[in-house]
Amino acid sequence: QLSQRLATVGSFVKPGARVADIGSDHAYLPANLALNQRISWGVAGEVVKGPFENARHEIRKLGLEEHLEARLADGLAAIEPQDRIDTVTIAGMGGPLIRHILEANPARLAGVTRLVLEPNVGEATVREWLVTNHFKITAERILSEDNHTYEVICADKTDDPFHYSEAELLFGPYLLAERSTVFVKKWQRELQRTERAVTQMQQAKVAPAAHLTAAHAKINLIKGVLA
Ligand code: SAM
Repeated sequence: QLSQRLATVGSFVKPGARVADIGSDHAYLPANLALNQRISWGVAGEVVKGPFENARHEIRKLGLEEHLEARLADGLAAIEPQDRIDTVTIAGMGGPLIRHILEANPARLAGVTRLVLEPNVGEATVREWLVTNHFKITAERILSEDNHTYEVICADKTDDPFHYSEAELLFGPYLLAERSTVFVKKWQRELQRTERAVTQMQQAKVAPAAHLTAAHAKINLIKGVLA
C-alpha cells in the first residue's frame, strides 16, 4: 500500500509509460506501478548503495525483474538511451536538489515527455526550471499526510510558449486557482514563518537588504492570495 503522497505521484504516470524513478529508495513507487501493470517498464535509480540494495531487494521479492531494474547512479545517469524512458518521477527531495538533478544531465531527458515531481520544499525553483526547459505544468495536487503538506507537480514537454506570473511560480498555477483548504493552511503557516524571519532579520540588523526585500515581497504575495 503506497502512501497517499506516492500514490498521487503515481496517478500522473500514464498507463503503459516507461518510467525512471530517480531517488527511488525502496522502489516502492515504480514497484507498485509495475505490480498493477500500470507501466511497460521502469528504472529505479539510486545514488546511495543502501537504498539501491533496498530497491533491488524489493524488485526481487515481488518478482518484478522483467518489469523494473534498479540502477546505482547519480540522478538522470540512471537513464540509458535504449531504455526509451518517457516519464521521470522524482519525489521526496528538496526543490533545489530536484532542480540540480534535472540540470546536471539534460541529454538524458531526450525522449522524456512527462515529469512528475514532488519537491518537499522550494517548489518555486522547480517551476522556474520547468518554464526554462519547456515543460508546461498540466496538473498539480496539494495534500496533507502525517502532519506534512506535499505538492505534486505534473509537467509535459511542449513547443508552445507559455508564461507563469510570480504568484503562479510560488503557489503553483493550478493550486492557486483551486485554493483548497490544505493550500490555505500551508500559506497561513508560511506567512507566519516569513513574518517571524523578517522580525529576526530586523532585530539582528545583519541580514543583507536583498533578503529582507525578498521576504517582504513574499509576504505581500501571500497576503494577496489569502485576502
Ligand atoms: N522517492 C522516494 C520517496 O519519495 O519516498 C524516496 C525519497 S528519499 C527521502 C530520497 C532518496 O533520493 C534517497 O534514497 C537518496 O539516496 C536519493 N537521492 C538523493 N540524491 C540523489 C541523486 N543525485 N541521484 C539518485 N538518488 C538520489
